[in-house]
Amino acid sequence: MTTAKPKILVCNDDGVHSDGLRALAEDLRAIGDVIIVAPDGEQNAASHAITLHKPLRVTQLGEGVYSTSGTPTDCVNLGVITILKERPALVVSGINKGENLGDDVTYSGTVSAAMEGTLLGIPSIAVSQAGNGRFRFAVAARVAARLATMVLERGLPPDTLLNVNVPDLDGSAVRGIKITRLGRRSTEANAIIENVDPRGRAYYWIGGNRLFGSETEGTDVGAVQAGYVSVSPVHLDLTNYQALAALLDWETRFSDV
Ligand code: MN
Repeated sequence: MTTAKPKILVCNDDGVHSDGLRALAEDLRAIGDVIIVAPDGEQNAASHAITLHKPLRVTQLGEGVYSTSGTPTDCVNLGVITILKERPALVVSGINKGENLGDDVTYSGTVSAAMEGTLLGIPSIAVSQAGNGRFRFAVAARVAARLATMVLERGLPPDTLLNVNVPDLDGSAVRGIKITRLGRRSTEANAIIENVDPRGRAYYWIGGNRLFGSETEGTDVGAVQAGYVSVSPVHLDLTNYQALAALLDWETRFSDV
């Protein structure tokens, strides 16, 4: 008797033609039935955007490979609802070209695809590869497949995704994995370059150096810097529970509203 392999939906924000996506899908095929649904072009920093005000197109590029005109979040929804027509056992997003650490997770299309999977009740993993222009994906793909196996066996805590970041090192130099919390970006990090366009108008370019604070003990930033694969459990409930009590007396101040 053959058991059906678990269905794994693979998405990213670098687009369907990214070699990071290809490397991930290849290693996941050893453990599951992989269906790729990814944007038809780059959707970096797409965050958790969903497309509500224009139609979306889906193109089948091959057996189990689809591109869409939408965002990573659109891709997960189209993948689950329209293409698979059932919940996959797992959503894996990546392998992103570039790390998604600390505060940057809220900008990330890669992480948001995993958030959408989580919101749909599907265990989800986001995988990102540190690097600068050139990226090696072998370790990240291998680790992703092993983590996927663990998640298929054990599940994940409720409303929680795994955010995985792999250091820019040869396989033999990677020191193992660390379970981490998200680090913090330093406040002056978001450099904005100001310049003048050929028509004399000022323009601004957000980006530049992404500096992280020096508090790195136990964080994803610290783990990747030290040569470990970082695995952060990220919870989707953004409520600050301590603040609930601290702000409670505001209710009485507004009793006349
Ligand atoms: Mn990306």
